[in-house]
Amino acid sequence: MEVTTALASHTTPEVRSLLGDALLHELSHGLGGPYHVLFPERFDACAAAFRAVFAEAGVDGQVYFAKKANKAAVYVERAAVAGLGVDVASHGELREALAAGVRGEDLVVTGPAKADDLLRVAVLQGALIAVDALDELDRLIVLAAGLGRRARVLLRRLPAEQPHSRFGLDDGELAAALRRCVDGPVDMEGFSFHLSGYDVRQRTDLAAESIGWCTEARALGLRADRISVGGGFAVDYVDAEDWRRFEESSRPEHFHAGKSFGGFYPYHSPVAGADALRTILAAAPSGSGEGTTLAELLRSAGVTLLVEPGRALLDQAGFTVFRVQGVKDRDGYAVLTVDGSSLSLSEQWFDSEFLPDPVLVPGGAGPVADAGPYPACVGAATCLESDMLTWRKIPFPVRPAVGDLLVYLNTAGYQMDSNESPFHELPLPPKVVVEPSGSRFRWRLDRHPH
Ligand SMILES: *Cc1c(COP(=O)(O)O)cnc(C)c1O
Repeated sequence: MEVTTALASHTTPEVRSLLGDALLHELSHGLGGPYHVLFPERFDACAAAFRAVFAEAGVDGQVYFAKKANKAAVYVERAAVAGLGVDVASHGELREALAAGVRGEDLVVTGPAKADDLLRVAVLQGALIAVDALDELDRLIVLAAGLGRRARVLLRRLPAEQPHSRFGLDDGELAAALRRCVDGPVDMEGFSFHLSGYDVRQRTDLAAESIGWCTEARALGLRADRISVGGGFAVDYVDAEDWRRFEESSRPEHFHAGKSFGGFYPYHSPVAGADALRTILAAAPSGSGEGTTLAELLRSAGVTLLVEPGRALLDQAGFTVFRVQGVKDRDGYAVLTVDGSSLSLSEQWFDSEFLPDPVLVPGGAGPVADAGPYPACVGAATCLESDMLTWRKIPFPVRPAVGDLLVYLNTAGYQMDSNESPFHELPLPPKVVVEPSGSRFRWRLDRHPH
């Protein structure tokens, strides 16, 4: 039968070396089920890359890690040590960030119609609050007055390019919000937005418009000296050529049960991570003076740029390990069953699939007859027909066998835990923090309480 395109995941030298290390099988045996591996050093490196772009562009900038992308404690602990900010959207996330050592003033609280107790702690901690609606601003003003404090506020914009978004204030509401900020116990520090999608052009343009809003706000006597362009810095998972071939050739027959999906994350992105920030800063916004870059506009207006990357700070900062516990032959391909569920690989829960090919790490020591490819899909150890980790018939280079490990690479951004539950009384996969130590690796469990 016709075989599907391979979509080999990008890796790092640490990942490659760990894939060949006995530690992976050791941990699978010792932990008795699937687990996630976390690389904190990689998080540090991604954050440093964003900061380097600000320094290089001569722009005053601040990086806030969007915590919702992963629940582990270790990344927030590293953020605290590095002096990064953290973007939180719930009382629980705020508590975790404070406990990891992030200072209140380094938090930005986002999300719609935030509950009073979240707003109260945010005010008491001096956190920046991205206000999403007029009624939320009114509640915040009453609350801050009651506490005898001032609230630090950004006003979140509803982007004209995404008029159906349920987030943010439209231009009329923004004008009303500014008037209320003038009279209230509020330090109005600027504006924010967060776009879905990865378009860099839109972000440059919206940032420039937001600088214009800062000028209007300042005319009312407000501080308005920072803007947040939110997150949405793409991650590049696979090569351009593989991705192009996949997109051109993909058909329902390439998936178990002829499954088709609404769409996929753009797993190849020519401009990703900190490079996307570099591109946004170096572009000249449409309608600005000829050739004036966003970086220049920010400098001359004295405006600080905040970014809130989630996924991009976690690029290659972790992977997820399952053990093959069954191999069943079907017509021209195999159905693998692994010792966990798609709850630990979240993309399925958005009517989509995490496409980069998992790496097979053989369990047996026997010689591997390499007469592949051996196409196989990957099912969960649950009783749900639809609980598949991968519907696509992945072209494995060797025949998968019981006891092999299946390693999904680059899963730290959103894949690991956003949907995990102890369904079927299956334990939640533990998170293992792995750091190189001389020629070996050292590991410990992450501190986040399940
Ligand atoms: C989710 C979110 C982010 C992070 O988005 P990424 O795509 O992971 O970079 C940043 N800001 C806000 C307001 C968000 O909701």
